[in-house]
Amino acid sequence: MGLLTPADRPGSTAGMSGMHHLNSWTTPDHRVMAIFAESVLITFARYRQLRATDFEAGGVLLGKRRGRHFDVTHLTVPFPTDVRTRTAFNRESSGHQSEASALWTSSGREIGYLGEWHSHPEQDPSPSNIDIRQWEKASTEMIDGLPFLAVIVGDVNLSVSIWQRGSRVDFLDSVI
Ligand SMILES: [Zn+2]
Repeated sequence: MGLLTPADRPGSTAGMSGMHHLNSWTTPDHRVMAIFAESVLITFARYRQLRATDFEAGGVLLGKRRGRHFDVTHLTVPFPTDVRTRTAFNRESSGHQSEASALWTSSGREIGYLGEWHSHPEQDPSPSNIDIRQWEKASTEMIDGLPFLAVIVGDVNLSVSIWQRGSRVDFLDSVI
């Protein structure tokens, strides 16, 4: 089983009509959902670190907030100035920031900053201590204390969590 692009796997039915794409993640109590546009999931899949030589990737998550829910419609991908290794990704803020600002303006202030994503070279990714510290800090910097969405793209699954005012609110599971 895998949540990311069956397209690359042998025997896949991707592209056939009626194929179901997993695109929603929810908290255990179903109070918060994160819905990813297919183009976002395809991009995540492209940055999986399937080969030993693949470096970590990452960027910002952009989209709309609908009440407590996250509608992730866009994302930024690594810029040449980002620092990338097998086990680390440090984004250089300027490129990601200016793309996010441009989309915010061109969308009439509808598509805004939701959080951050990066990849891990593991099947079922879990946050590192560095990730946790970064998200705790990032969530304290959100305007009006808005919740912050954190995604790790693993080789098979995503880790999706929500952070607010310096603490983790919940992990989200995929909706099958
Ligand atoms: Zn990480």
